[in-house]
Amino acid sequence: MNDGEFGGQYVPQELKKELDLIEKNFKEAMEDKEFLKKYEYYLKQYVGRPSPLYYAENFTKFCGGAKIYLKREDLNHTGAHKINNAIGQVLLAKKMNKTHIIAETGAGQHGLATATVCSLFKIKCTIFMGKVDIEKQKVNVDKMKLLGAEVKSVTRGQGTLADAVDEAFEYLLEHKDVFYLIGSAVGPAPYPEMVKQFQTVIGREAKQQILEQEGKLPKAMIACIGGGSNSIGLFHDFIGENVDIYGIEGAGKGLKTGKHASSIYQGKIGILHGMKTYVMQDENHKLQEAYSISSGLDYPGIGPEHAFLHEMGRGKYDSITDDEAIEAFKILTLEEGIIPALESSHAVAYAIKIAKKYHKEDCIIVNLSGRGDKDVDTIFVY
Ligand SMILES: *Cc1c(COP(=O)(O)O)cnc(C)c1O
Repeated sequence: MNDGEFGGQYVPQELKKELDLIEKNFKEAMEDKEFLKKYEYYLKQYVGRPSPLYYAENFTKFCGGAKIYLKREDLNHTGAHKINNAIGQVLLAKKMNKTHIIAETGAGQHGLATATVCSLFKIKCTIFMGKVDIEKQKVNVDKMKLLGAEVKSVTRGQGTLADAVDEAFEYLLEHKDVFYLIGSAVGPAPYPEMVKQFQTVIGREAKQQILEQEGKLPKAMIACIGGGSNSIGLFHDFIGENVDIYGIEGAGKGLKTGKHASSIYQGKIGILHGMKTYVMQDENHKLQEAYSISSGLDYPGIGPEHAFLHEMGRGKYDSITDDEAIEAFKILTLEEGIIPALESSHAVAYAIKIAKKYHKEDCIIVNLSGRGDKDVDTIFVY
């Protein structure tokens, strides 16, 4: 995929060498039958794939439009899509003879997936996490520690996700034995492409499943966007098809309030974490803080391939507020007995908005990127 002006490698020269080495190994791995066999084995036997594509009949009635199918990434081991990528990258690190994995995490979901896979493959694991996030996400921090990972508290800047990424890159530069496992389709090349490839299993399965169940392709698909990995993983196999694609960012307390996580809405192109993309920044290129009630969405940028799809007009990028997401969380739970992650609830909320624009015989696939157990406290406080 050519992402036009987006993406690239905006990093120091020493880091470029390391990134080129990762790219070389990644390309080899993608051609290596043994590597792919191992990756698929763990997706099936450890993660529990394929995840079902579930026809949500009650929810469909509620929405009053097209038939809504849920891609159940919430049923994966550790409760979200992030493990697909973590397994792929840890296998790659092992192929490169690395002995130490590092990762950044915001809400702790990627940290948890990484610590889990490191425990499975017996490899040392350090998670960089903002001090503020550590205080907010005690359960995930405790789980990571139980899994044998070291959790490093990041105090610079705001003490949140973007700062944890900066610190992880610095650590990578100083340590030869380290592999940096990025959790979303962001960062310098080859990360966005690599993370995408390890998530395309979502869309590959969904395409086969919808053809089996409906005998035709969906008219639309919807996924939430933090950095953009569950979405690009679902979309990839459908980009060449006649299917409407919706990527949904967090509108937080409302786009006009400035308290949101919608970098495309803000419309400013800049450099963040080694890539060129849409970034939430002010006139002086100073990074702004992203906000969403769902910590998995409050990233102040977006993966470069989404920036490209937006620019080309191939994908429609929109946003959903905290209030709308909470409402959708409650509705799906009551209608289907499925508690969605607050992140995924943004995609669910968008389905409620647009289902009526499609015929009743049409289908829409909504990516249920994760389960909502972690969010129950938030919903009750709210
Ligand atoms: C991390 C996370 C997201 C957002 O990340 P993407 O890379 O945009 O997919 C969405 N949903 C869940 C459940 C997550 O844990």
